[in-house]
This record gives sequence, C-alpha cells and structure tokens, in this order.
Amino acid sequence: MSGEKLPEWRELPIAGIPYKFSTEYKTGDWKSFRPVIDENKCVKCLTCVAFCPDMAMKAEFENDKPKRVYPDYDHCKGCGICASVCPVKAIEMVPEV
Ligand code: SF4
Ligand code: SF4
Repeated sequence: MSGEKLPEWRELPIAGIPYKFSTEYKTGDWKSFRPVIDENKCVKCLTCVAFCPDMAMKAEFENDKPKRVYPDYDHCKGCGICASVCPVKAIEMVPEV
C-alpha cells in the first residue's frame, strides 16, 4: 500500500469492480479446503461465480458463452459457498495440502 492515498467510497467505480488490492495481493494462502470443479458435471450456470464472496470463482467466455469456470486459488478463502450453491454438485471441497 506504500502510503498511497486510497479512494473514498464515492470515488469507487460503479459496481465496485475490484480495486487493485484484491488482485495485487495473494490472499488465498490461509484456506484449509479448496474447491475442485468436476468439469464433466459443471453446466456452466455461473451460480458459483455470482455467489463467491471473494470474486475468486472465474469464468472464461467464448462468443458470449461461458467456456470454462475455475477457482482462482490465489484469492479463494475456501469458504465452500460455491460448493453449497452449485445446483449439480460439481464442486468438491478437498483438504488443502
Ligand atoms: S470456496 Fe469460497 S472463496 Fe473459494 S471460490 Fe468458493 S465461494 Fe469463492
Ligand atoms: S455452480 Fe456448479 S454447475 Fe454452475 S458454473 Fe459453478 S461449478 Fe459449474
């Protein structure tokens, strides 16, 4: 953060797309479980992307359609919300080693 003046809430972009600290620092190293997606079960509904409180579930798109959904382990906290909301149970929380 190096003494940099932080923006006030009124200066944040609409919809709050992550201010740079969320991507600048790796904050996922204290999780004890990690989400693992079964690609064969995932129907790419993006529910996990919408519900992840850390914006750590990512999606890649091709022609405006989701092509791949994957966790960003550098920022995932292992809370398991993604696994709970997945409608087809495609996400398993496995112990972090
Ligand atoms: S375990 Fe929690 S932080 Fe990690 S991707 Fe799932 S919802 Fe996001
Ligand atoms: S909620 Fe489940 S099915 Fe939907 S994108 Fe996430 S992993 Fe895939």
